[in-house]
Amino acid sequence: MEASAPREINYLRLSVTDRCQLRCFYCTYWQDWQKLPTGEILSYEELLRLAGIAAGLGIRKVRVTGGEPLVRRGVVGFLQSLHRVPGIEEVCLTTNGVRLADLAPALYDTGLRHLNLSLDTLRRERYREITGQDQLEQVMAGLERAVTLGLGPVKINCVVMAGINEDELVDLALLARDHPYQVRFIELMPTVSPRQWQQNFLPMAEVRRRLAVLGPMVAAERRTTDGPAQIYRLPGFQGELGFITPISAHHCRTCNRLRLTAAGALRPCLFGDAEIDLKTPLRQGASDSWLASLFAGAISQKSARFSLPPASFPLHGSSMVSIGG
Ligand code: SAM
Repeated sequence: MEASAPREINYLRLSVTDRCQLRCFYCTYWQDWQKLPTGEILSYEELLRLAGIAAGLGIRKVRVTGGEPLVRRGVVGFLQSLHRVPGIEEVCLTTNGVRLADLAPALYDTGLRHLNLSLDTLRRERYREITGQDQLEQVMAGLERAVTLGLGPVKINCVVMAGINEDELVDLALLARDHPYQVRFIELMPTVSPRQWQQNFLPMAEVRRRLAVLGPMVAAERRTTDGPAQIYRLPGFQGELGFITPISAHHCRTCNRLRLTAAGALRPCLFGDAEIDLKTPLRQGASDSWLASLFAGAISQKSARFSLPPASFPLHGSSMVSIGG
Protein backbone atom coordinates (compact mmCIF):
# COMPACT_ATOMS: atom_id res chain seq x y z
CA MET A 1 0.00 0.00 0.00
CA GLU A 2 1.38 3.37 -0.94
CA ALA A 3 1.61 6.08 1.67
CA SER A 4 -1.20 8.58 1.61
CA ALA A 5 -0.22 11.85 -0.02
CA PRO A 6 -1.70 14.88 1.71
CA ARG A 7 -4.27 16.48 -0.54
CA GLU A 8 -6.97 19.03 -0.27
CA ILE A 9 -10.51 17.71 -0.74
CA ASN A 10 -12.14 20.84 -2.09
CA TYR A 11 -14.50 19.65 -4.82
CA LEU A 12 -18.02 18.27 -4.40
CA ARG A 13 -20.09 16.82 -7.20
CA LEU A 14 -23.72 17.20 -6.31
CA SER A 15 -26.23 15.08 -8.17
CA VAL A 16 -29.63 16.74 -8.11
CA THR A 17 -31.55 14.00 -9.92
CA ASP A 18 -31.22 10.50 -11.30
CA ARG A 19 -33.53 11.35 -14.21
CA CYS A 20 -32.30 12.05 -17.73
CA GLN A 21 -33.95 12.45 -21.14
CA LEU A 22 -31.09 10.61 -22.83
CA ARG A 23 -30.19 6.94 -22.60
CA CYS A 24 -26.49 6.97 -23.43
CA PHE A 25 -25.74 3.28 -23.60
CA TYR A 26 -22.70 3.42 -21.35
CA CYS A 27 -24.43 5.51 -18.73
CA THR A 28 -27.67 3.53 -18.48
CA TYR A 29 -26.41 0.16 -19.64
CA TRP A 30 -28.12 -1.80 -16.89
CA GLN A 31 -31.71 -1.39 -17.92
CA ASP A 32 -33.02 -2.32 -14.52
CA TRP A 33 -31.65 0.67 -12.67
CA GLN A 34 -34.40 1.95 -10.47
CA LYS A 35 -35.45 5.55 -10.54
CA LEU A 36 -35.70 6.97 -7.07
CA PRO A 37 -39.16 7.85 -5.78
CA THR A 38 -39.33 11.66 -5.77
CA GLY A 39 -39.41 11.85 -1.99
CA GLU A 40 -36.11 9.96 -1.81
CA ILE A 41 -34.29 12.65 -3.76
CA LEU A 42 -32.81 15.36 -1.58
CA SER A 43 -34.75 18.60 -1.65
CA TYR A 44 -32.98 21.78 -2.69
CA GLU A 45 -33.13 22.99 0.92
CA GLU A 46 -31.38 19.81 2.04
CA LEU A 47 -28.79 20.11 -0.72
CA LEU A 48 -28.07 23.73 0.19
CA ARG A 49 -27.66 22.86 3.82
CA LEU A 50 -25.21 20.10 2.98
CA ALA A 51 -23.32 22.37 0.58
CA GLY A 52 -22.91 24.90 3.40
CA ILE A 53 -21.62 22.21 5.75
CA ALA A 54 -19.23 20.96 3.06
CA ALA A 55 -17.96 24.49 2.52
CA GLY A 56 -17.15 24.62 6.22
CA LEU A 57 -14.88 21.60 5.69
CA GLY A 58 -12.98 23.11 2.80
CA ILE A 59 -15.16 22.40 -0.23
CA ARG A 60 -14.64 25.35 -2.57
CA LYS A 61 -15.98 24.04 -5.85
CA VAL A 62 -19.39 22.44 -6.41
CA ARG A 63 -20.40 20.80 -9.64
CA VAL A 64 -24.12 20.26 -10.15
CA THR A 65 -24.74 17.09 -12.09
CA GLY A 66 -27.14 14.14 -12.41
CA GLY A 67 -28.80 12.34 -14.16
CA GLU A 68 -29.49 15.44 -16.17
CA PRO A 69 -29.63 18.40 -13.80
CA LEU A 70 -31.59 20.60 -16.19
CA VAL A 71 -34.59 18.25 -16.13
CA ARG A 72 -35.21 18.91 -12.45
CA ARG A 73 -37.80 21.58 -11.82
CA GLY A 74 -36.45 24.58 -9.93
CA VAL A 75 -32.82 23.92 -10.78
CA VAL A 76 -32.25 27.51 -11.87
CA GLY A 77 -33.31 28.87 -8.49
CA PHE A 78 -31.19 26.23 -6.81
CA LEU A 79 -28.11 27.30 -8.77
CA GLN A 80 -28.78 30.89 -7.78
CA SER A 81 -28.89 29.92 -4.09
CA LEU A 82 -25.81 27.74 -4.42
CA HIS A 83 -23.82 30.72 -5.66
CA ARG A 84 -24.65 32.45 -2.37
CA VAL A 85 -23.44 29.69 -0.05
CA PRO A 86 -20.55 31.19 1.91
CA GLY A 87 -17.26 29.50 1.11
CA ILE A 88 -18.31 28.11 -2.28
CA GLU A 89 -16.12 29.92 -4.75
CA GLU A 90 -16.96 28.06 -7.93
CA VAL A 91 -20.27 26.61 -9.08
CA CYS A 92 -20.20 24.47 -12.22
CA LEU A 93 -22.85 22.64 -14.17
CA THR A 94 -22.50 19.41 -16.13
CA THR A 95 -25.24 18.95 -18.70
CA ASN A 96 -26.12 17.07 -21.83
CA GLY A 97 -27.22 20.42 -23.25
CA VAL A 98 -30.63 19.30 -24.48
CA ARG A 99 -32.42 22.05 -22.53
CA LEU A 100 -29.60 24.56 -22.74
CA ALA A 101 -31.00 26.70 -25.53
CA ASP A 102 -34.09 27.41 -23.42
CA LEU A 103 -32.39 27.76 -20.08
CA ALA A 104 -29.11 29.51 -20.95
CA PRO A 105 -30.34 33.07 -20.22
CA ALA A 106 -31.78 32.09 -16.84
CA LEU A 107 -28.65 30.09 -16.03
CA TYR A 108 -26.48 33.05 -16.92
CA ASP A 109 -28.53 35.25 -14.59
CA THR A 110 -27.83 32.91 -11.66
CA GLY A 111 -24.16 33.83 -11.98
CA LEU A 112 -23.28 30.48 -13.53
CA ARG A 113 -20.32 30.59 -15.89
CA HIS A 114 -18.59 27.20 -15.67
CA LEU A 115 -20.27 24.82 -18.05
CA ASN A 116 -19.41 21.22 -18.94
CA LEU A 117 -21.23 19.82 -21.91
CA SER A 118 -21.23 16.15 -22.82
CA LEU A 119 -20.73 15.58 -26.52
CA ASP A 120 -19.37 12.33 -27.90
CA THR A 121 -20.07 12.96 -31.57
CA LEU A 122 -20.78 15.71 -34.09
CA ARG A 123 -22.82 13.40 -36.30
CA ARG A 124 -26.55 13.42 -35.97
CA GLU A 125 -27.25 9.77 -36.62
CA ARG A 126 -24.41 8.65 -34.39
CA TYR A 127 -25.65 10.92 -31.63
CA ARG A 128 -28.99 9.21 -31.85
CA GLU A 129 -27.37 5.80 -31.70
CA ILE A 130 -25.31 6.66 -28.62
CA THR A 131 -27.98 8.57 -26.69
CA GLY A 132 -31.20 7.08 -28.05
CA GLN A 133 -32.45 10.57 -28.96
CA ASP A 134 -32.23 12.77 -32.02
CA GLN A 135 -31.09 15.86 -30.13
CA LEU A 136 -27.73 16.85 -31.55
CA GLU A 137 -29.03 19.99 -33.26
CA GLN A 138 -30.71 21.07 -30.07
CA VAL A 139 -27.51 20.54 -28.09
CA MET A 140 -25.39 22.50 -30.56
CA ALA A 141 -27.93 25.32 -30.53
CA GLY A 142 -27.79 25.31 -26.74
CA LEU A 143 -24.02 25.46 -26.76
CA GLU A 144 -24.04 28.37 -29.16
CA ARG A 145 -26.64 30.24 -27.16
CA ALA A 146 -24.75 29.71 -23.91
CA VAL A 147 -21.48 30.94 -25.39
CA THR A 148 -23.13 33.94 -27.06
CA LEU A 149 -24.55 34.94 -23.69
CA GLY A 150 -21.09 34.78 -22.15
CA LEU A 151 -21.14 31.47 -20.30
CA GLY A 152 -17.68 30.02 -20.02
CA PRO A 153 -15.21 28.52 -19.52
CA VAL A 154 -16.88 25.78 -21.52
CA LYS A 155 -15.59 22.25 -21.27
CA ILE A 156 -16.72 19.62 -23.73
CA ASN A 157 -16.67 16.08 -22.32
CA CYS A 158 -16.19 13.40 -24.89
CA VAL A 159 -16.16 9.72 -23.96
CA VAL A 160 -13.89 7.96 -26.44
CA MET A 161 -15.20 4.65 -27.73
CA ALA A 162 -13.42 2.33 -30.12
CA GLY A 163 -15.64 1.38 -33.02
CA ILE A 164 -18.11 4.13 -32.16
CA ASN A 165 -16.56 7.60 -32.28
CA GLU A 166 -12.82 6.97 -32.63
CA ASP A 167 -12.93 8.29 -36.20
CA GLU A 168 -14.07 11.70 -34.89
CA LEU A 169 -11.22 12.42 -32.49
CA VAL A 170 -9.64 15.05 -34.71
CA ASP A 171 -12.99 16.67 -35.57
CA LEU A 172 -13.88 16.91 -31.90
CA ALA A 173 -10.42 18.25 -31.00
CA LEU A 174 -10.77 20.92 -33.66
CA LEU A 175 -13.65 22.40 -31.68
CA ALA A 176 -10.90 23.67 -29.38
CA ARG A 177 -9.05 25.20 -32.29
CA ASP A 178 -12.07 27.09 -33.54
CA HIS A 179 -13.57 28.02 -30.15
CA PRO A 180 -12.19 28.80 -26.69
CA TYR A 181 -13.38 25.44 -25.36
CA GLN A 182 -11.53 22.84 -23.40
CA VAL A 183 -12.26 19.59 -25.22
CA ARG A 184 -11.69 16.72 -22.81
CA PHE A 185 -11.34 13.15 -23.95
CA ILE A 186 -12.38 10.60 -21.34
CA GLU A 187 -11.60 6.90 -21.23
CA LEU A 188 -14.68 4.74 -21.17
CA MET A 189 -15.23 3.41 -17.68
CA PRO A 190 -16.50 -0.14 -17.37
CA THR A 191 -20.11 0.59 -16.48
CA VAL A 192 -21.12 -1.77 -19.27
CA SER A 193 -20.64 -5.52 -19.61
CA PRO A 194 -16.99 -6.61 -19.58
CA ARG A 195 -17.33 -7.76 -23.19
CA GLN A 196 -18.78 -4.48 -24.35
CA TRP A 197 -16.17 -2.54 -22.42
CA GLN A 198 -13.33 -4.52 -23.97
CA GLN A 199 -14.78 -3.86 -27.40
CA ASN A 200 -15.16 -0.12 -26.89
CA PHE A 201 -12.31 0.86 -24.60
CA LEU A 202 -9.58 2.92 -26.24
CA PRO A 203 -6.61 3.89 -24.06
CA MET A 204 -5.78 7.57 -23.90
CA ALA A 205 -2.22 6.99 -25.09
CA GLU A 206 -3.72 5.85 -28.38
CA VAL A 207 -6.02 8.87 -28.48
CA ARG A 208 -3.06 11.18 -27.98
CA ARG A 209 -1.08 9.34 -30.62
CA ARG A 210 -3.88 9.92 -33.12
CA LEU A 211 -4.13 13.59 -32.18
CA ALA A 212 -0.42 14.17 -32.71
CA VAL A 213 -1.27 15.34 -36.26
CA LEU A 214 -2.61 18.54 -34.69
CA GLY A 215 0.83 19.68 -33.55
CA PRO A 216 2.93 19.70 -30.38
CA MET A 217 1.04 19.74 -27.08
CA VAL A 218 2.33 21.83 -24.19
CA ALA A 219 1.11 21.02 -20.68
CA ALA A 220 -0.93 23.80 -19.08
CA GLU A 221 -0.62 24.83 -15.44
CA ARG A 222 -2.94 23.22 -12.90
CA ARG A 223 -5.06 24.87 -10.22
CA THR A 224 -5.83 23.15 -6.90
CA THR A 225 -9.54 22.82 -7.73
CA ASP A 226 -8.84 21.26 -11.12
CA GLY A 227 -10.15 17.79 -11.70
CA PRO A 228 -8.11 14.87 -12.96
CA ALA A 229 -7.70 16.06 -16.56
CA GLN A 230 -4.25 16.66 -17.96
CA ILE A 231 -4.57 19.85 -19.97
CA TYR A 232 -2.57 20.84 -23.03
CA ARG A 233 -2.30 23.84 -25.30
CA LEU A 234 -1.62 23.56 -29.01
CA PRO A 235 -0.35 26.10 -31.49
CA GLY A 236 -3.16 27.97 -33.21
CA PHE A 237 -5.81 26.73 -30.78
CA GLN A 238 -8.13 29.15 -28.97
CA GLY A 239 -8.98 26.48 -26.45
CA GLU A 240 -7.24 23.48 -24.94
CA LEU A 241 -7.34 19.71 -24.99
CA GLY A 242 -7.78 17.62 -21.87
CA PHE A 243 -7.21 13.93 -21.27
CA ILE A 244 -8.90 12.01 -18.48
CA THR A 245 -7.50 8.57 -17.78
CA PRO A 246 -9.48 6.81 -15.05
CA ILE A 247 -8.37 3.44 -16.41
CA SER A 248 -4.90 3.69 -17.87
CA ALA A 249 -3.41 6.12 -15.36
CA HIS A 250 -4.56 6.07 -11.77
CA HIS A 251 -5.36 9.52 -10.52
CA CYS A 252 -6.39 8.66 -6.98
CA ARG A 253 -3.55 10.57 -5.42
CA THR A 254 -4.70 13.77 -7.06
CA CYS A 255 -8.42 13.12 -6.67
CA ASN A 256 -9.83 16.07 -4.73
CA ARG A 257 -13.51 15.24 -4.96
CA LEU A 258 -16.47 13.80 -3.13
CA ARG A 259 -19.77 12.85 -4.69
CA LEU A 260 -23.20 13.30 -3.21
CA THR A 261 -25.80 11.15 -4.95
CA ALA A 262 -29.34 12.37 -5.54
CA ALA A 263 -30.39 9.88 -2.86
CA GLY A 264 -28.25 11.70 -0.32
CA ALA A 265 -25.34 9.27 -0.10
CA LEU A 266 -21.83 10.61 0.07
CA ARG A 267 -19.33 8.63 -2.01
CA PRO A 268 -15.66 9.15 -1.28
CA CYS A 269 -14.73 7.31 -4.46
CA LEU A 270 -16.64 6.75 -7.68
CA PHE A 271 -15.55 3.16 -7.90
CA GLY A 272 -15.52 2.20 -4.27
CA ASP A 273 -18.63 0.71 -2.72
CA ALA A 274 -18.45 2.95 0.31
CA GLU A 275 -21.37 5.29 0.74
CA ILE A 276 -22.21 7.37 3.75
CA ASP A 277 -25.90 7.96 4.19
CA LEU A 278 -26.54 11.61 4.93
CA LYS A 279 -30.23 11.63 4.13
CA THR A 280 -31.37 9.58 7.12
CA PRO A 281 -29.58 11.67 9.76
CA LEU A 282 -30.52 14.83 7.86
CA ARG A 283 -34.20 13.90 7.98
CA GLN A 284 -33.99 12.73 11.57
CA GLY A 285 -32.90 16.18 12.70
CA ALA A 286 -29.10 15.78 12.88
CA SER A 287 -27.19 18.90 13.86
CA ASP A 288 -24.80 20.64 11.47
CA SER A 289 -21.86 19.45 13.54
CA TRP A 290 -23.03 15.83 13.33
CA LEU A 291 -23.44 16.07 9.55
CA ALA A 292 -20.04 17.76 9.34
CA SER A 293 -18.52 14.80 11.19
CA LEU A 294 -20.02 12.46 8.56
CA PHE A 295 -18.50 14.58 5.80
CA ALA A 296 -15.17 14.56 7.60
CA GLY A 297 -15.40 10.77 7.80
CA ALA A 298 -15.91 10.54 4.05
CA ILE A 299 -12.91 12.76 3.45
CA SER A 300 -10.74 10.56 5.64
CA GLN A 301 -12.02 7.44 3.86
CA LYS A 302 -10.65 8.58 0.54
CA SER A 303 -8.18 5.88 -0.15
CA ALA A 304 -4.55 6.61 -0.76
CA ARG A 305 -4.40 4.48 -3.82
CA PHE A 306 -6.77 4.27 -6.70
CA SER A 307 -7.67 0.76 -7.61
CA LEU A 308 -9.96 0.21 -10.53
CA PRO A 309 -9.39 -3.33 -11.62
CA PRO A 310 -11.65 -3.82 -14.61
CA ALA A 311 -12.21 -7.32 -13.23
CA SER A 312 -14.25 -5.80 -10.42
CA PHE A 313 -16.76 -4.50 -12.91
CA PRO A 314 -19.48 -4.15 -14.01
CA LEU A 315 -20.88 -1.93 -11.33
CA HIS A 316 -24.30 -3.43 -11.62
CA GLY A 317 -26.90 -1.02 -10.36
CA SER A 318 -24.33 1.73 -10.14
CA SER A 319 -24.73 3.27 -13.55
CA MET A 320 -23.42 6.79 -13.78
CA VAL A 321 -26.91 8.11 -14.20
CA SER A 322 -27.80 7.04 -10.67
CA ILE A 323 -24.48 7.78 -8.97
CA GLY A 324 -24.05 11.19 -10.56
CA GLY A 325 -21.29 11.47 -13.13
N1 SAM B 1 -26.45 14.48 -17.84
C1 SAM B 1 -25.24 15.22 -17.62
C2 SAM B 1 -24.33 15.09 -18.80
O1 SAM B 1 -24.69 14.40 -19.76
O2 SAM B 1 -23.27 15.69 -18.79
C3 SAM B 1 -24.50 14.90 -16.33
C4 SAM B 1 -24.42 13.47 -15.89
S1 SAM B 1 -23.42 12.41 -16.90
C5 SAM B 1 -23.53 10.93 -15.92
C6 SAM B 1 -21.81 13.05 -16.58
C7 SAM B 1 -20.71 12.54 -17.44
O3 SAM B 1 -20.44 11.19 -17.13
C8 SAM B 1 -20.97 12.63 -18.91
O4 SAM B 1 -19.99 13.43 -19.53
C9 SAM B 1 -20.86 11.19 -19.36
O5 SAM B 1 -20.32 11.09 -20.64
C10 SAM B 1 -19.94 10.60 -18.30
N2 SAM B 1 -20.01 9.15 -18.23
C11 SAM B 1 -21.07 8.39 -17.93
N3 SAM B 1 -20.76 7.07 -18.00
C12 SAM B 1 -19.45 7.01 -18.34
C13 SAM B 1 -18.54 5.95 -18.57
N4 SAM B 1 -18.89 4.69 -18.48
N5 SAM B 1 -17.25 6.26 -18.90
C14 SAM B 1 -16.87 7.54 -19.02
N6 SAM B 1 -17.70 8.58 -18.81
C15 SAM B 1 -18.97 8.34 -18.48
